[in-house]
Amino acid sequence: MNLSPVRVRFAPSPTGRMHLGSARTALYDYLLARRSAGQFILRIEDTDRKRFVEGAEQELRDGLRWLGIQYDEGPDLGGPYGPYRQSERQESYQQWAAELLRRDQAFPCFCSADRLEKVRQEQLKNKQSLRYDGTCRQLDPAEAQRRIAAGEKHVIRFKMPYEGETRAVDTMRGEIVWQNKDLDDSVLMKSDGLPTYHLAAMADDYEMKITHVIRGSEWLSSFPLHVNIIRALGWPEPIWMHLSVFLKPSGKGKMSKREAAEAIKDGHSIFVTDLKDLGYTPEGVLNWIVLMGWGVAEDDVMSLDQMVQRFDPTNLNPSPAAINFAKLDHFNGTHIRLMDAADLAGRIKPFLVGAGFSVDDAKLLKIVPLIRERLVTLDDSIPFAGFFFKDELTPDPQDLIAKDLTPAQSAGVAQTALEILTDLPDVSHAQAEPPLRRFVEQSGLQPNQVFGILRVAVTGQKVSPPLFESMEIIGREVVLARIRRAVELLTTF
Ligand code: GLU
Repeated sequence: MNLSPVRVRFAPSPTGRMHLGSARTALYDYLLARRSAGQFILRIEDTDRKRFVEGAEQELRDGLRWLGIQYDEGPDLGGPYGPYRQSERQESYQQWAAELLRRDQAFPCFCSADRLEKVRQEQLKNKQSLRYDGTCRQLDPAEAQRRIAAGEKHVIRFKMPYEGETRAVDTMRGEIVWQNKDLDDSVLMKSDGLPTYHLAAMADDYEMKITHVIRGSEWLSSFPLHVNIIRALGWPEPIWMHLSVFLKPSGKGKMSKREAAEAIKDGHSIFVTDLKDLGYTPEGVLNWIVLMGWGVAEDDVMSLDQMVQRFDPTNLNPSPAAINFAKLDHFNGTHIRLMDAADLAGRIKPFLVGAGFSVDDAKLLKIVPLIRERLVTLDDSIPFAGFFFKDELTPDPQDLIAKDLTPAQSAGVAQTALEILTDLPDVSHAQAEPPLRRFVEQSGLQPNQVFGILRVAVTGQKVSPPLFESMEIIGREVVLARIRRAVELLTTF
């Protein structure tokens, strides 16, 4: 597939936390830009001051950085088409609004919120389509000018054609046709002089030379308005793709705040920075979300670079995908196993440190191959590897008692093992395993009885990485001390 260089933008509003839907849109933008050797732009759509959330832009930028979705132009990077925050582009929107008024494609509207509400109620009662009733559209322009000059509060509305139809193409969904009589004279400039999304986004897309718009399907209802604005100003039209929303895990309905909270209880989340804190890797998250709406084989394990190589926007799929956290776990574990040991150690370390362990890097590097297979998330390393970094263990004495043995018999087993190991120059796997196996055979016990006692003694837990490898890493002195302690605990039980 040969694509000419595109210019795409991810245009979030800083109104809340960065969720999976935004991350997927940004990812597709990025893939399309890289695939075509084009540019990917971050634009912050912050004109809705009521919904503005302090810190949201920072979270978005952190989320993108963590995921490795690098943009080429943006508020912190600058670029030839800046500024990249809408709040810093006011003048341009005012000019375009004035231009639409001049072309008689927009009109000032002085209607009060009360009046508009009455009209709405009336339309609801009469089962009419809900739209502006055109009162101010009828105003004599000179009269309107006089009222504006007198400082009367007003908005600017787009003059939707009353007749005919609007047609536009979404490359994922085909051509869509709307009857103009159903379309509204939407507000382009609010009474505070700030633009709505409709005008601001279209103007920015034009000025930033955006060639492809990838955005959520919640914008399909205002799609006809957007193409009419673009056509009224004679701008080139971008290629449009409206991605479907994510459905909740059951597949029934959109993800709500309640389901989002449920997911967190379960160790998952729909928010990008939460996933980072929960021990997911960018590789796992990217692999998971890229397939939610892209028609390649479901279980395809890909790095970001491989996604760039393979990405084909014609395979984007408009049917909504249900969020499936089991797949996230699958991809995360798979990518963890693909990492080299040093990389994985570096990623695990902050989780162990966060859990209060002082981590020795060389030791961690030896531990990684032992635990890698068992990790779904990076923080699974805490139960699997934490004991390596503990000074003192206090195993539950109950856990030290082997199946079908009394505490005294278990103490005897631990004591013999202690003597065997004490006689060895070290407790390496090669040195320790043969004499302990011989002991098992001679004692007539089951291997899991003997090794179960030693496992709990040495690691403090019933489930651990392989015993002999673990002992080798923990080292002779500590291993012996821990077994000695287990003997004590069992004899005083
Ligand atoms: N600011 C809009 C949003 O966050 C962007 C939509 C778009 O990409 O055009 O939903």
